[in-house]
Amino acid sequence: MTTTEPAQSTVSMDTLVSLCKRRGFVFPASEIYGGFGSTYDYGPLGVELKRNIKDAWWRAMVRERSDVVGIDTAIIQSPRVWEASGHVQNFHDPMVDCLQCKGRFRADHLEGPACPTCGAADSFTDAREFNLMFRTHVGPVEDAAASAYLRPETAQGIFVNFENVLNATRRRLPFGIAQQGKSFRNEITLGNFIFRTREFEQMEMEYFVAPEQSDEWYARWIDLREAWYHELGIQPENLRRDVHPQESLSHYSAGTTDLQYRFPWGWDELEGIANRTDFDLTQHGESSGKRLEYFDQAEQRHIVPHVIEPAAGVDRIMLALLCDAYRVLPDEKGDDRVVLAFAPRIAPVTVAVLPLSRKEPVADLARQVWDQLRPHWTTQYDDTQSIGRRYRRQDEIGTPLCVTIDFDSLEDHAVTIRDRDTQQQERLPIAELVNALRTRLSF
Ligand code: ATP
Repeated sequence: MTTTEPAQSTVSMDTLVSLCKRRGFVFPASEIYGGFGSTYDYGPLGVELKRNIKDAWWRAMVRERSDVVGIDTAIIQSPRVWEASGHVQNFHDPMVDCLQCKGRFRADHLEGPACPTCGAADSFTDAREFNLMFRTHVGPVEDAAASAYLRPETAQGIFVNFENVLNATRRRLPFGIAQQGKSFRNEITLGNFIFRTREFEQMEMEYFVAPEQSDEWYARWIDLREAWYHELGIQPENLRRDVHPQESLSHYSAGTTDLQYRFPWGWDELEGIANRTDFDLTQHGESSGKRLEYFDQAEQRHIVPHVIEPAAGVDRIMLALLCDAYRVLPDEKGDDRVVLAFAPRIAPVTVAVLPLSRKEPVADLARQVWDQLRPHWTTQYDDTQSIGRRYRRQDEIGTPLCVTIDFDSLEDHAVTIRDRDTQQQERLPIAELVNALRTRLSF
């Protein structure tokens, strides 16, 4: 299926947030109780969109590769994990308070001496370091000994299982371990909808390489990750690389490149690709007393592998896809219609089934057609209101193809396929429908 030439997306966040709520992509969490600061729930369409993003990542990073395996580790690990990784000591942001309005901000996000909320000049307290990990208690006693943390990243669960995976799979370098799952950070400044929240989903892969190959694989993974966003349908002009200067690298990193998306508020990070050297395995090796090493048969030597890490956020990718896909295009009469021009694999609904009558026998035939399609794709059945309005609704949620069943279908056993982007319609036999849709969707 071809997508019509994109107009540069100029959607405002207000428009997008309202569409997301109205159509069931994203709801404010705990809304009936007045909401819960920058926390969101994903509705029926949001959950499909997120699932499609995660599936696309898992396919590209695990299933289609011969050198990567998956893992799913606990959210609450031993606190020793976070001591060894440096998170207890180093995972904090500098926080300031405005004495005027009591607003709280990340010092490194402020531009100039004025408070972004109330405008007061030079009203900030000195910066204090604020650890971003959520602390909790495990077991019935709430004392320091029972203290634990919700993970702030999925990566450490991979490092602490390095030996287990190596023993279980007998992998040779280079190889990777991939994980998707929730992470938690007690962020000081939130905002921009689902871009930065306290609870979010990550997709991370730790790729273990011989030390002398780390530069080469670092470069290769930046290319591969960038290409993945293009395949997802992100317009190339809205994606760029941001190479971190040497002096601003994290303590563990020998190189970091972010992939940034051009959001409505400007360029911002979608994913970071870091050369983490042997930092994590060395730290956990020393702290646990285990030798987290690899025996290189060819060279007859023990080495601590170096690690290249592509780390992405599902929620941010979803927001980027929504911004990128948003179009206002003309309908058949030249009026505006809103279209989310998702790539077919990403669209939350792939095919909509629209009968022209709610009554038998058209409805009966439409249900038979729907039964045929449900095992193959995510579908929706809609028999309410005029066909024009139903097309508009499907356009607005990004459904690539609609199938219309009318009175003639009873005679000729044929239906009409309508394309979201071109609005072109084509009639074809029901017997050929699944194959015809598959050809158009390419999956
Ligand atoms: P930022 O600089 O935006 O705080 P980061 O550099 O600390 O992000 P990483 O630790 O590299 O982020 O995490 C990898 C990815 O996880 C990020 O690129 C982002 O997509 C996602 N991510 C991190 N923090 C959040 C958050 N609070 N909300 C949503 N996604 C997040």
